[in-house]
Amino acid sequence: EAFVAAVAAAKPLNAFLVETPDHALAAADAADAARAAGEAPRPMAGVPIGMKDLFCTKGVPSTAASHILEGFTPQYESTVSQKLWDAGAGMLGKLNMDQFAMGSSNETSHFGNVVSPWRRSDGGNADLAPGGSSGGSSAAVAARIAPGATGTDTGGSIRQPAAFTGISGIKPTYGRCSRWGVIAFASSLDQAGPMARDVRDCAIMLEAMAGFDAKDATSLDVAVPQWEAGLTPSLKGKRVGIPKEYRVDGMPPEIEALWQQGIDWVRDAGAEVVEVSLPHTKYALPAYYIIAPAEASSNLARYDGVRYGLRDLPDGANLQEMYAKTRAEGFGDEVKRRILIGTYVLSAGFYDAYYTQAQKVRTLIAQDFDNAWERCDVLLTPTAPSAAFALGEKNADPIAMYLNDVFTVPSSLAGLPAMSVPGGVDAGGLPLGLQVIGKALDEQAVLNAALAIE
Ligand code: GLN
Repeated sequence: EAFVAAVAAAKPLNAFLVETPDHALAAADAADAARAAGEAPRPMAGVPIGMKDLFCTKGVPSTAASHILEGFTPQYESTVSQKLWDAGAGMLGKLNMDQFAMGSSNETSHFGNVVSPWRRSDGGNADLAPGGSSGGSSAAVAARIAPGATGTDTGGSIRQPAAFTGISGIKPTYGRCSRWGVIAFASSLDQAGPMARDVRDCAIMLEAMAGFDAKDATSLDVAVPQWEAGLTPSLKGKRVGIPKEYRVDGMPPEIEALWQQGIDWVRDAGAEVVEVSLPHTKYALPAYYIIAPAEASSNLARYDGVRYGLRDLPDGANLQEMYAKTRAEGFGDEVKRRILIGTYVLSAGFYDAYYTQAQKVRTLIAQDFDNAWERCDVLLTPTAPSAAFALGEKNADPIAMYLNDVFTVPSSLAGLPAMSVPGGVDAGGLPLGLQVIGKALDEQAVLNAALAIE
């Protein structure tokens, strides 16, 4: 009830697109009833969470924060949300996000930006970006109006908003969480994961969300480990790699200092720290911004005004005009930009020059990580090149926005588990995140290193 009231009171943050108090309260009642009946509690019995609006939820509008999906109410539940309900959790509501998960500030939402609950302490009173695309999730957890929230991460959308708001979030290995019922952005990259106050809560939530699903062709048929039970802050016998290419030109001194602090912490926890090289890092961002739009342009072809949501059919219009009008009106500017980039790099004549090259770069980046794993168990880097920026600051310049993903995108291209954990604050008291990247399927090592830092 306290969380339901907090959601209702937090409207100025614009974190929730839909409130579903009955869903959350029913889960709490079910948990009470089970306890009264002497049943063993389920892992998330009665825990109220926020659900990113990229997840289809049965009978509850699901829009991916896009006008083109307004009026769409799924007849089915995504696998991940169903697993959370099966674990006993309840839904406080659907969370605002960047439209179709494209963005790093939550400003591409059709329903207005989310406002971070943080303020700088050193002057200026600007509203800050909560990060993106899971900006409703980060703001809700940071403002303590939800103990946890789902996020999705295609190129950093769990980790960067977690870093901007001083919370924790993990993108598991690609294939750990089913993509079934998650509105697609870039299918070879999209992964669901938890965002919560601390590492332990993330471990509990991830255990509930992960697992094989025959309905997702890229779902991994492997057992879900007991990550929470396996948590230990000792890194004795572990080697932590520091990739030298992440020391990018112009890195702000406070990010350097944060990184050094993280290195000291993992050393104090017993780890050996080694320098490693990921030589193709500088090509990751350009490759990502070819591959992700290419896949997006294909995935978004389904929004034709016939099957879902919005339809713009002026009097006398033919089918072609209906498609064109619906898509022109229904997609936001950033989504259109991605569709244009994607169709361009996939078109005959440019395919080999851009798309094929980007796929080759992707393989080289994955090989860089494979080579690094010969020398270390996890990698430690900053999550983002800065603290939260002000709303509007980067909105007019897409490239400046894309550059914010420089540290999160390489592990996405390689499908590796990666987590952001709070590591410190900048001069204005704003949170800064440290990122731990692990080997495929070794979420435990990622969680443990993050726990040592927390
Ligand atoms: N900011 C990146 C993009 O806009 C990542 C988004 C995401 O991970 N969903 O594509």
